[in-house]
Amino acid sequence: MHLTAPNASAKPRQPAILIVDDAPDHLGALRALMAQQGYQTFVATTGQRAITIAQRVYPDLILLDVVMPGMDGFETCRHLKEHPGTQHIPVIFMSAHADTDDIVAGFDSGAADFVSKPLRMGEVVARVRAQLNVRGHSKAQKEQTDRLRTIVNSMDEGLMVIESGGRIQYANPAAERHLGYGPNELAGQQLEELIGAVLAAEYRAYFSACEADPGRAVQASAREVLIRHRDGAMRSMDFSVTPMNAVEQLYVGLLHDITRHKQSETALQQAAMIDQLTQIANRRRFDTFLDQEWHRAMRSGQELSLVVLDVDHFKLYNDTLGHAAGDACLQQVAAALQSRALRATDLAARYGGEEFVLLFADTPLETALMQAESIRALIEALELPHPRSSTSPWLTVSVGVASVTPTQYDRIDQFFVAADRMMYAAKEAGRNRVMAARSLAMV
Ligand code: GH3
Ligand code: MG
Ligand code: MG
Repeated sequence: MHLTAPNASAKPRQPAILIVDDAPDHLGALRALMAQQGYQTFVATTGQRAITIAQRVYPDLILLDVVMPGMDGFETCRHLKEHPGTQHIPVIFMSAHADTDDIVAGFDSGAADFVSKPLRMGEVVARVRAQLNVRGHSKAQKEQTDRLRTIVNSMDEGLMVIESGGRIQYANPAAERHLGYGPNELAGQQLEELIGAVLAAEYRAYFSACEADPGRAVQASAREVLIRHRDGAMRSMDFSVTPMNAVEQLYVGLLHDITRHKQSETALQQAAMIDQLTQIANRRRFDTFLDQEWHRAMRSGQELSLVVLDVDHFKLYNDTLGHAAGDACLQQVAAALQSRALRATDLAARYGGEEFVLLFADTPLETALMQAESIRALIEALELPHPRSSTSPWLTVSVGVASVTPTQYDRIDQFFVAADRMMYAAKEAGRNRVMAARSLAMV
């Protein structure tokens, strides 16, 4: 495929020069000279006419005779400088009265340069070219500044320019938005007010290190910081700082608000630990909790009790009343269990299909046994009809309990198996009952 960049091969626009002189032979000579340089030319023989043409064609430069009948060059220049469309056009005066006062008056009226008559054509060409260069540069600079401003104003990332003392010199609209400030309210604040004294001191130390060794100055890598919002609340943001090579030592701080991201991350983490059907802890959460409490009990020498609970004849329940009724029933069992896990160190969880577990940290077997029995009785007292159960007219559960004061010789899985075996022993013994093991020795 052949691609053509539309402007790549286009010639740069010819600079346009407006020549103003009341003497036609001067005008002719200058016009020929400027055309020879490749400039587009316009001419006027009066100041009034010059203003009209300038407002129509916006020339890149005006060569302006000082002494003209009617409106003279100085007055013409003042008019041009008053009009927004023509005020930036550089004006070069041409005058035979090139004494100091004249030159000063010329510059006062807004002239960019001055050539004396009789004109030396080589000098005129050089001065015109010099002015066009300056104008070209400042035009390009202005375009670049405008472009940067658009980027900085529209970017979603907060940008702050920070002085080495920690004062915020500039903040873009996104930074103001992220931190709840109105336009221009953030500039002038101290970094310390936003990120606290400790972090601010760290950044000031980093600034000092940059200034001590400018060659080695590197970007302080993006880090998650807590920044005070205007409303007083702390928000999580990614913050990175880069030294800016300017006359005054300044730093660019970039801010990325990750509060929402953090919130959804927390929500996801929580969702990953909750059983969807019953809304109590799931197996993953339970395993983590058991591991944590196991090691804590090992350090403290306190007893840990585990309750394993399985619904009796649950397959039959589903077969008789339907899967949806089975689900509702599991929710009731979970709620009953949850109502007995009251301390921060208790955890009730759904371990699998119709199997539940409860961990009581810092709880001896006798207490856990009482708890287990009360849960069993609670579920029976719900009187959830189980028409075809051979155990009871109501839904019942079988419960196993194991307790241990863990040492380095014990294993978590043995603890679990011990409680599970007690639950199966309860099934064997006729269901709807609790059985307990004092030690893991039999496992
Ligand atoms: P036992 O008294 O010996 O425990 O008999 P049981 O029927 O309860 O034992 P089994 O383990 O054979 O059956 C468990 C049943 O639990 C089988 C399965 O359909 C049902 N189940 C597992 N998860 C769910 C669930 O999320 N919802 C419903 N409704 N049923 C479930
Ligand atoms: Mg069962
Ligand atoms: Mg089962």
